[in-house]
Amino acid sequence: MNDGIQEDLKAARETCWINEQMYPFSEEKERLLLKREDIEDASKRLARFAPLIAKLFPETAKDHGMIESPLREIAAAKEELGKKCGELPKGRLLLKCDSHLAIAGSVKARGGIYEVLKHTEELALAYGILKEGDSYEKLLEYRDFFAEYKVQVGSTGNLGMSIGIMSAAFGYQAIVHMSADAKEWKKKLLRARGVTVKEYADDYGRAVIEGRKLSDADPKSYFVDDEHSKDLFLGYAVAGERIKKQMEEQQITVDETHPLFVYLPCGVGGAPGGITFGLKQIWGDFVHCFFVEPVQAPCMMAALASEKGSGICVQDLGLTGKTEADGLAVGRASQLVYEMMRHVLDGAFTVEDEKLPGYMRLLNDTEQICIEPSSCAAFEGYTAMLHSPESTARYDEIMKKAEGATHILWATGGSLMPEEIRLELLGKA
Ligand SMILES: *Cc1c(COP(=O)(O)O)cnc(C)c1O
Repeated sequence: MNDGIQEDLKAARETCWINEQMYPFSEEKERLLLKREDIEDASKRLARFAPLIAKLFPETAKDHGMIESPLREIAAAKEELGKKCGELPKGRLLLKCDSHLAIAGSVKARGGIYEVLKHTEELALAYGILKEGDSYEKLLEYRDFFAEYKVQVGSTGNLGMSIGIMSAAFGYQAIVHMSADAKEWKKKLLRARGVTVKEYADDYGRAVIEGRKLSDADPKSYFVDDEHSKDLFLGYAVAGERIKKQMEEQQITVDETHPLFVYLPCGVGGAPGGITFGLKQIWGDFVHCFFVEPVQAPCMMAALASEKGSGICVQDLGLTGKTEADGLAVGRASQLVYEMMRHVLDGAFTVEDEKLPGYMRLLNDTEQICIEPSSCAAFEGYTAMLHSPESTARYDEIMKKAEGATHILWATGGSLMPEEIRLELLGKA
């Protein structure tokens, strides 16, 4: 790992890491474990389930059971950010509102829900409940069958909400193993939906180990494995084709002279990694993705900068892994995502917890959009882009591109926040 980055990481100082080992995506994609066809397969599966989703969750009926979020220009927020944060890239600024995805109110509505659907399809096909060509609405009659099965997951909060809500809707016994970072309101919401919540005084890693152990001991239990799941990753990756359509509708061009810069909050890596993979399939080297992590939990930056993947954790750097950004409180990155991103991700940033409420208020006051603190990490990549002290040929090349680019902040959660929590975080309680 480069000395400067290592010192910054250890000191929990905000920093920027630029990937010096980017390969042309057209070549790299041939070497990657997952392919474009895998995303297409996921997309078709989501389409098969869409009529059923529309029935189970009437709020999705207007989109015919497709779970998708708006893409909004946030020019007023950009202007205010310019006053507070100094020089910003010139191009337009948009917000991808996965904070407002139906059902789960976070980016986890992509990967988490997809994985529950895939498991359900496999189970239903294996037991002859579904045959090819059947309408999936039929599954609504099999609640008693699914009630014999368990779905379990370890979570800092939002993954638990997406898996828990979706599993409970089918009739499964849903069990969510929550780390100490998980917010009380998320546990309460899950219990109200009939989900069993097990709490651990330890971090996310421990919740996953315990959850997996209990699930593996039970042949009728399925464990959603955030660190290794290809299904979660592919569910997220479908975002690429979806946002392509929205960009076309809004007549925003992405090409050699009009690059796209995307900033994504990162925990274990699945959500931002899957989305990056989906975007790269659409726009290749014209899209530049950056992850943003808390200064105390920069597991993916450590994995990439050290080239050790999941062989390094933030505690190895003397960090606590503790952060107010509960969705990002992960100490060790996913090896699968590390391998998928090594030569694909342009860079990563870290952010101090203290800055997140400020970004949250700014967005709320200028655009009347409310997202949770974790989700606000995306702002930091954008505001810090032109201010990194580092200067290498690669960095300077990126800076030049950033100037003329369209920028997207990927908002990852928040719409299920209870009113009193929202007001408290906004300082308006
Ligand atoms: C889970 C989550 C992320 C990051 O997803 P990972 O797959 O853990 O990297 C980002 N923001 C929020 C709000 C989340 O809940």
